[in-house]
Amino acid sequence: MTENYDVLIVGSGAAGLYCALHLDPGLKVLQICKKELKLSNSSLAQGGIAAVVDTAHDSIQSHFQDTMIAGGFKNNPDSLGLLVKQGPEDVRRLMEYGVDFDRREDGSLHLTLEGGHSRPRILHHKDATGREIVNRLTEAVRKLPGVEVAEHAMLTKMEKTPGGFCADVLQNGRHRRVTANFCVLATGGIGRIYEYTTNSAIATGDGITLASELGAAMKNISYIQFHPTAFAADEGRERFLISEAVRGEGAILLNCNHERYMQRYDERGDLAPRDVVSQSTIRESVRTGSNRFYLDISHKPAAFIKQRFPMIYQGLLAEGYDLTKDKIPVFPCQHYLMGGIDVDLDARTSVDGLYAAGECSHTGVHGQNRLASNSLLEAVVFSRRAAEDINRRAKQGLRPAEACALPVRTEGEELPAGLRTQLRCIMQHAYFVIPNMDAIGEGLRRAREIRDLIENGSFQCTPDYIEAKSLATIACLILEEVVNR
Ligand SMILES: Cc1cc2nc3c(=O)[nH]c(=O)nc-3n(C[C@H](O)[C@H](O)[C@H](O)COP(=O)(O)OP(=O)(O)OC[C@H]3O[C@@H](n4cnc5c(N)ncnc54)[C@H](O)[C@@H]3O)c2cc1C
Repeated sequence: MTENYDVLIVGSGAAGLYCALHLDPGLKVLQICKKELKLSNSSLAQGGIAAVVDTAHDSIQSHFQDTMIAGGFKNNPDSLGLLVKQGPEDVRRLMEYGVDFDRREDGSLHLTLEGGHSRPRILHHKDATGREIVNRLTEAVRKLPGVEVAEHAMLTKMEKTPGGFCADVLQNGRHRRVTANFCVLATGGIGRIYEYTTNSAIATGDGITLASELGAAMKNISYIQFHPTAFAADEGRERFLISEAVRGEGAILLNCNHERYMQRYDERGDLAPRDVVSQSTIRESVRTGSNRFYLDISHKPAAFIKQRFPMIYQGLLAEGYDLTKDKIPVFPCQHYLMGGIDVDLDARTSVDGLYAAGECSHTGVHGQNRLASNSLLEAVVFSRRAAEDINRRAKQGLRPAEACALPVRTEGEELPAGLRTQLRCIMQHAYFVIPNMDAIGEGLRRAREIRDLIENGSFQCTPDYIEAKSLATIACLILEEVVNR
């Protein structure tokens, strides 16, 4: 049986939820996410969301300029202009949905500073801003009668058909055949392609893979951000992020000899943008011959640290470190994807009816390096614009999109063990912070072999199969772009 919808939204992070809230109430919408609703990179966002809300002390021009500098002037000025101008209104809308940003005693918004921003302009909810946004937006979406939300529902395959798309959604082991006139991909990042990442388990690049299978244009997929201050745990893949805001509030970086080193590489010191700090850390590790680095904010009052960074404080305490007293071991790790599915100012991809928003998309706002706290803003501004564009087009009248055969293998072999581990190892060696040109050629050859094995084998279509196929596709796309650049 085929189920017909007007819009299919794939993803329930900030981009997917905010898009759903801006679609016309008359539209029939299916919103899916492959695991629990709140498991996403959005839920992990700590630092906050950047926007110029204090026009007495800040300006749109300054936000624009800071973003251009961080992005190495590779940013798209049109999409960036739109982001910084429209962002403040979307932040106000978030507050209307109940998002509770921290305030000063006089009731004004508490704006904080992060690396690369020349003014304090980051709105935040303590150090758990993403969770607050996802919680409030989820409550609002749950009240929408036209939106059916399906958890543990994974998009495995999609084809373009007359009038829209025909998709296979694997929900709790059952395959659903779905058609929709429009599809919004809001599937997040690709962090799980690396051995160490701050990203949640859902970040396997599925939306990017599905879009590339449909022939959608990609751009700058090798623009990957490595966060300089992930907690350097002894084990575990998902690295606990220590927000930039900790350095914004005065924390300093130290090398293995407990000496400050950032000034040696950049005059902005500890508050230089992320790519500069990550690259400087790698250069310093070569200079000292050690991977041991520390973040230290113990000179600030303990009460302030606990009140300002409760989640980070508790997270580190669980690992045996006290942020108010100890030097915290840190090291760079994969954090964010600046490139992805190329979209225009209305989040339209090169495939008619297919939209992409949030981390899976390439709007061009970030250039080659994202300025801290600009991605939640990008997710809301461009997912709203996708919804508005769909509303405009839907007003011209919709007929159900046609279904198609869409063969999926419900039985078959299991994927050989260890393929994902191999892909992660390839990426960690070939392209971590600074591309390793000696390892890229061989890495790409092996990644292609793995992709071909996965695509041409008789494997059953399971969530594991889909994610492994995505990781292999993404590894090839990234390494091919680095080689061609
Ligand atoms: C630790 C951490 C801290 C961060 N801090 C900040 C910050 O302070 N400020 C800031 O601006 N940004 C921050 N970021 C980045 C920001 O959180 C993300 O870029 C942004 O939230 C991405 O939102 P999204 O909606 O695009 O994707 P996500 O929030 O990652 O959502 C992706 C959704 O897609 C679904 N999905 C994926 N594949 C499929 C599939 N095949 N089928 C169905 N569903 C699928 C997932 O289930 C999930 O619901 C941080 C990121 C991390 C990891």
